[in-house]
Amino acid sequence: MGNMLVEGLSAMNTSSQEITPDILILQFKIVTACLVGDPNSATGEFVLVDTGLENSADFILESIEKRFGKDSRPQAIILTHGHFDHVGSVIQLSKMWGVPVYAHQLEMPYITGQKDYPTGDPTVGGGMVSMLSPTFPHTSIDICSYAKALPNDGTIPDMPGWRWIHTPGHTVGHISLFREKDRVLIVADAFSTTKQESLSSVMTQREQISGPPAYMTTDWETAKQSIIRLKNLNPSLAITSHGKPLAGEELTKHLEMLINDFDEIAKPDQGRFVH
Ligand SMILES: [Zn+2]
Ligand SMILES: [Zn+2]
Repeated sequence: MGNMLVEGLSAMNTSSQEITPDILILQFKIVTACLVGDPNSATGEFVLVDTGLENSADFILESIEKRFGKDSRPQAIILTHGHFDHVGSVIQLSKMWGVPVYAHQLEMPYITGQKDYPTGDPTVGGGMVSMLSPTFPHTSIDICSYAKALPNDGTIPDMPGWRWIHTPGHTVGHISLFREKDRVLIVADAFSTTKQESLSSVMTQREQISGPPAYMTTDWETAKQSIIRLKNLNPSLAITSHGKPLAGEELTKHLEMLINDFDEIAKPDQGRFVH
């Protein structure tokens, strides 16, 4: 039933939002992905950050054609981590495009068939999505022929001006992406702007800052340190994978609140990974 729920949710209400002239957020209802690259630049080059769910490929292809022209393909795919709602379409798309797929070194085992994530933890509470999380796919995908570890120096191939920030806690090799020039932050799952555990919050996308999706988060102390690292970058705009983007003073205020009241806002009272 969990997978049916996910499929049902992902099939409906896809939309996109141009948040800066060179970033298009693809919204698959329960998760987002991004096209990063200016369609009006001389080269028209771009990358795809995350790939949504298994049935997200059609909407991704449609959005790319609309924005960059027929038969366009990205220079690369960047994965923030290997969870099923971020790698759902990566097998199909990497094969189709023949482009490299970059992820953090520590996340490589989870996308090359070597290591599985633990199953979702329903005991963290918070609502229906948590309860169904044990049925979400958790086994490693295998994209050996395309997967490449990100360079150690923090740069991201085919994303000039951007660097990856290691934000572990949710997964060991989780990354966020940051651009110094305009202080734009692609957060991924380091924190959320919806209560991802609750079906009604996911459905209505009610804005509220929260930690990483709890049922899949394995190290809460590290997760908190990662959010502090992101806050210290002083981002002007935060694009999360779960929930709406936050910007400006509202972002600063919410991040402060999240860090100060982390145990209350983010960390579940109980769960397999809460000590
Ligand atoms: Zn995740
Ligand atoms: Zn996620």
